[in-house]
Amino acid sequence: MRIVLVGPPASGKGTQAKIFVERLGVPQVSTGDMLRAAKKAGTELGVEAAKYMSAGKLVPDEVVIGLVRERLHEEDASKGFILDGFPRTEVQADALDALLSSIDKPLDAVVQIDVPRDLLVERAVLRRTDKRTGQIYHLKYNPPPPDAELDHRADDQEDQVNQRLNDYETMTSALLPYYEKKGLLRRIDGVGKLDEVTERIADALEKSAS
Ligand code: AMP
Repeated sequence: MRIVLVGPPASGKGTQAKIFVERLGVPQVSTGDMLRAAKKAGTELGVEAAKYMSAGKLVPDEVVIGLVRERLHEEDASKGFILDGFPRTEVQADALDALLSSIDKPLDAVVQIDVPRDLLVERAVLRRTDKRTGQIYHLKYNPPPPDAELDHRADDQEDQVNQRLNDYETMTSALLPYYEKKGLLRRIDGVGKLDEVTERIADALEKSAS
């Protein structure tokens, strides 16, 4: 299946993407991960992209479109993919559309995970990671053991979370109507237990495939 997964920060999108990579046997294609890898490797593209990323800005469309085009032509993406973090603009959505039409492999669904804003802020602000194990905890709903060495991501501070949510809302207000018009948008209630949300997504994908 060829899917775009959309969700605000702290919606559980990353976790669900990993579950569906296993279930569907297709790769997750995350432009954020690809850009961070390029930055770490110090490639020309990575150095250029880093300027935008550290300023909290979007990397220019032609850069990310080029990355995605190359990635989707790799062998493991021939059976399908889960796009994560792309498209973020209408120009990117149009480019994706053109790319997939040219190989006669259109998108099957755009899945949006919906979570109310106050819950997202609470999730992010109270989220902690154990530096030693990478395990993620929530101070209220999933408290860490007393010996955990806790880290609070810089972008999970309240001001930053609010800014990321504003950016997300601006982005989706342009993109989601685009996919709604094409009849591809599936809205999922992202409130509830992890496996309940997984099953809601699975149901939506099943309907999209049939
Ligand atoms: P993410 O991990 O998806 O939040 O992406 C981290 C950063 O990479 C973003 O803040 C942007 O600077 C950049 N980025 C990732 N995906 C895109 C995209 N589709 N278009 C433009 N910039 C992107």
